[in-house]
Amino acid sequence: MKIILIGVQGSGKSTQGELLSKEFSVPYLATGQIFRTIAQEDTELGKYLKETMAKGLLVPDEKVLEIVRQYLNRQEYQNGYILDGFPRTLKQAEAFKDGADYVVYLKVSDEEAIKRLAKRNSNREDDTVTAIQKRIELFHQFTEPVIDYYRTKGILIEVDGEKAVEQIFEDTKKALKTHG
Ligand code: AMP
Repeated sequence: MKIILIGVQGSGKSTQGELLSKEFSVPYLATGQIFRTIAQEDTELGKYLKETMAKGLLVPDEKVLEIVRQYLNRQEYQNGYILDGFPRTLKQAEAFKDGADYVVYLKVSDEEAIKRLAKRNSNREDDTVTAIQKRIELFHQFTEPVIDYYRTKGILIEVDGEKAVEQIFEDTKKALKTHG
Protein backbone atom coordinates (compact mmCIF):
# COMPACT_ATOMS: atom_id res chain seq x y z
CA MET A 1 0.00 0.00 0.00
CA LYS A 2 1.39 3.37 -1.06
CA ILE A 3 -0.37 6.32 0.51
CA ILE A 4 0.39 10.01 0.30
CA LEU A 5 -0.95 12.30 3.00
CA ILE A 6 -1.71 15.89 2.09
CA GLY A 7 -2.90 18.65 4.36
CA VAL A 8 -1.96 22.05 5.63
CA GLN A 9 0.49 22.19 8.54
CA GLY A 10 -1.41 21.24 11.67
CA SER A 11 -3.94 19.07 9.85
CA GLY A 12 -2.84 15.96 11.73
CA LYS A 13 -0.83 14.23 8.99
CA SER A 14 1.78 12.74 11.29
CA THR A 15 -0.83 11.41 13.77
CA GLN A 16 -2.85 9.78 10.99
CA GLY A 17 0.36 8.71 9.24
CA GLU A 18 1.51 6.72 12.26
CA LEU A 19 -1.93 5.08 12.61
CA LEU A 20 -2.06 4.16 8.91
CA SER A 21 1.48 2.86 9.07
CA LYS A 22 0.46 0.38 11.81
CA GLU A 23 -2.79 -0.51 10.05
CA PHE A 24 -1.11 -1.42 6.76
CA SER A 25 2.28 -2.52 8.15
CA VAL A 26 4.23 -0.16 5.92
CA PRO A 27 6.72 2.46 7.11
CA TYR A 28 5.85 6.11 7.67
CA LEU A 29 8.15 8.63 6.06
CA ALA A 30 7.95 12.42 6.49
CA THR A 31 10.12 14.63 4.31
CA GLY A 32 10.04 17.38 6.96
CA GLN A 33 11.67 14.96 9.42
CA ILE A 34 14.32 13.98 6.88
CA PHE A 35 15.15 17.63 6.24
CA ARG A 36 15.23 18.49 9.95
CA THR A 37 17.73 15.67 10.50
CA ILE A 38 19.98 16.81 7.63
CA ALA A 39 19.68 20.42 8.87
CA GLN A 40 21.45 19.43 12.09
CA GLU A 41 24.55 18.42 10.16
CA ASP A 42 27.40 20.86 9.90
CA THR A 43 27.49 20.77 6.10
CA GLU A 44 26.63 23.20 3.31
CA LEU A 45 23.37 21.35 2.68
CA GLY A 46 22.60 21.23 6.40
CA LYS A 47 23.06 24.97 6.79
CA TYR A 48 21.03 25.70 3.68
CA LEU A 49 18.12 23.52 4.80
CA LYS A 50 18.14 25.03 8.28
CA GLU A 51 17.82 28.55 6.87
CA THR A 52 15.19 27.59 4.30
CA MET A 53 13.01 25.80 6.83
CA ALA A 54 13.33 28.47 9.52
CA LYS A 55 11.78 30.94 7.04
CA GLY A 56 8.97 28.53 6.23
CA LEU A 57 10.09 28.35 2.60
CA LEU A 58 10.09 25.27 0.40
CA VAL A 59 13.21 23.28 -0.40
CA PRO A 60 13.84 23.37 -4.19
CA ASP A 61 12.17 20.56 -6.16
CA GLU A 62 15.42 19.06 -7.53
CA LYS A 63 16.88 18.68 -4.05
CA VAL A 64 13.66 17.22 -2.66
CA LEU A 65 13.32 14.72 -5.49
CA GLU A 66 16.93 13.59 -5.17
CA ILE A 67 16.63 12.98 -1.42
CA VAL A 68 13.20 11.32 -1.58
CA ARG A 69 14.39 8.98 -4.34
CA GLN A 70 17.40 7.96 -2.27
CA TYR A 71 15.13 7.07 0.65
CA LEU A 72 12.47 5.26 -1.32
CA ASN A 73 15.10 3.07 -2.98
CA ARG A 74 15.79 1.48 0.38
CA GLN A 75 14.61 -2.08 0.94
CA GLU A 76 12.19 -1.13 3.72
CA TYR A 77 10.03 0.95 1.38
CA GLN A 78 9.68 -1.63 -1.39
CA ASN A 79 6.35 -2.97 -0.08
CA GLY A 80 4.82 0.44 0.35
CA TYR A 81 4.84 3.50 2.58
CA ILE A 82 2.85 6.30 4.11
CA LEU A 83 4.36 9.53 2.82
CA ASP A 84 3.86 12.83 4.64
CA GLY A 85 4.97 16.16 3.21
CA PHE A 86 5.73 15.02 -0.32
CA PRO A 87 4.85 15.84 -3.08
CA ARG A 88 4.23 19.47 -2.22
CA THR A 89 4.45 21.02 -5.68
CA LEU A 90 3.05 20.03 -9.05
CA LYS A 91 6.55 19.46 -10.35
CA GLN A 92 7.26 16.98 -7.55
CA ALA A 93 3.95 15.21 -8.17
CA GLU A 94 4.59 14.89 -11.89
CA ALA A 95 8.07 13.52 -11.26
CA PHE A 96 6.59 11.00 -8.82
CA LYS A 97 4.16 9.55 -11.35
CA ASP A 98 3.34 6.10 -10.00
CA GLY A 99 4.25 6.83 -6.42
CA ALA A 100 0.80 6.49 -4.86
CA ASP A 101 -2.15 4.11 -4.79
CA TYR A 102 -4.17 6.66 -2.85
CA VAL A 103 -3.80 10.24 -1.72
CA VAL A 104 -5.51 11.17 1.53
CA TYR A 105 -6.29 14.87 1.86
CA LEU A 106 -6.95 15.92 5.46
CA LYS A 107 -9.15 18.98 5.14
CA VAL A 108 -8.71 21.58 7.85
CA SER A 109 -9.42 25.32 7.68
CA ASP A 110 -6.55 27.79 8.02
CA GLU A 111 -8.09 29.05 11.27
CA GLU A 112 -8.16 25.57 12.81
CA ALA A 113 -4.61 24.85 11.60
CA ILE A 114 -3.28 28.06 13.12
CA LYS A 115 -5.10 27.34 16.38
CA ARG A 116 -3.56 23.86 16.57
CA LEU A 117 -0.07 25.05 15.65
CA ALA A 118 -0.22 27.80 18.27
CA LYS A 119 -1.08 25.17 20.90
CA ARG A 120 1.58 22.73 19.72
CA ASN A 121 4.38 22.54 22.22
CA SER A 122 7.11 22.35 19.64
CA ASN A 123 10.71 23.38 19.56
CA ARG A 124 10.66 23.54 15.80
CA GLU A 125 12.36 26.63 14.46
CA ASP A 126 9.63 27.08 11.87
CA ASP A 127 6.77 27.23 14.37
CA THR A 128 7.02 31.02 14.62
CA VAL A 129 4.02 33.14 13.58
CA THR A 130 5.80 34.44 10.47
CA ALA A 131 6.98 31.02 9.33
CA ILE A 132 3.59 29.42 10.02
CA GLN A 133 1.86 32.08 7.92
CA LYS A 134 4.35 31.54 5.12
CA ARG A 135 3.92 27.76 5.23
CA ILE A 136 0.14 28.07 5.01
CA GLU A 137 0.40 30.58 2.18
CA LEU A 138 2.75 28.25 0.25
CA PHE A 139 0.38 25.35 0.88
CA HIS A 140 -2.39 27.21 -0.95
CA GLN A 141 -0.09 28.38 -3.73
CA PHE A 142 1.90 25.21 -4.45
CA THR A 143 0.20 22.24 -2.80
CA GLU A 144 -3.44 22.87 -3.73
CA PRO A 145 -2.59 22.24 -7.42
CA VAL A 146 -1.19 18.87 -6.29
CA ILE A 147 -4.59 18.04 -4.74
CA ASP A 148 -6.32 18.86 -8.04
CA TYR A 149 -3.75 16.74 -9.89
CA TYR A 150 -4.60 13.64 -7.83
CA ARG A 151 -8.35 14.40 -7.96
CA THR A 152 -8.13 14.31 -11.75
CA LYS A 153 -6.24 11.01 -11.54
CA GLY A 154 -9.14 9.61 -9.49
CA ILE A 155 -7.10 8.54 -6.47
CA LEU A 156 -7.89 11.41 -4.10
CA ILE A 157 -9.68 10.68 -0.83
CA GLU A 158 -10.94 13.73 1.02
CA VAL A 159 -11.40 13.45 4.76
CA ASP A 160 -12.73 16.00 7.25
CA GLY A 161 -9.63 16.64 9.38
CA GLU A 162 -11.46 18.68 12.00
CA LYS A 163 -13.07 15.67 13.67
CA ALA A 164 -11.57 13.66 16.53
CA VAL A 165 -8.40 11.66 15.77
CA GLU A 166 -10.17 8.25 15.98
CA GLN A 167 -13.05 9.42 13.80
CA ILE A 168 -10.67 10.73 11.11
CA PHE A 169 -8.86 7.40 11.15
CA GLU A 170 -12.15 5.46 10.81
CA ASP A 171 -13.34 7.75 7.98
CA THR A 172 -10.02 7.27 6.17
CA LYS A 173 -10.10 3.48 6.48
CA LYS A 174 -13.71 3.38 5.28
CA ALA A 175 -12.91 5.60 2.28
CA LEU A 176 -9.87 3.47 1.39
CA LYS A 177 -12.05 0.31 1.49
CA THR A 178 -14.70 1.89 -0.71
CA HIS A 179 -12.08 2.93 -3.25
CA GLY A 180 -10.17 -0.32 -3.11
P1 AMP B 1 6.88 19.72 7.40
O1 AMP B 1 7.43 19.01 8.60
O2 AMP B 1 6.20 18.80 6.43
O3 AMP B 1 6.03 20.89 7.77
O4 AMP B 1 8.14 20.29 6.60
C1 AMP B 1 9.02 21.21 7.20
C2 AMP B 1 9.76 21.98 6.15
O5 AMP B 1 10.55 21.06 5.34
C3 AMP B 1 8.90 22.70 5.12
O6 AMP B 1 8.45 23.96 5.61
C4 AMP B 1 9.85 22.84 3.96
O7 AMP B 1 10.81 23.84 4.20
C5 AMP B 1 10.58 21.51 3.99
N1 AMP B 1 9.90 20.49 3.16
C6 AMP B 1 9.38 19.31 3.58
N2 AMP B 1 8.89 18.61 2.56
C7 AMP B 1 9.08 19.37 1.45
C8 AMP B 1 8.77 19.20 0.07
N3 AMP B 1 8.16 18.09 -0.39
N4 AMP B 1 9.12 20.18 -0.79
C9 AMP B 1 9.75 21.29 -0.36
N5 AMP B 1 10.06 21.51 0.92
C10 AMP B 1 9.74 20.57 1.83
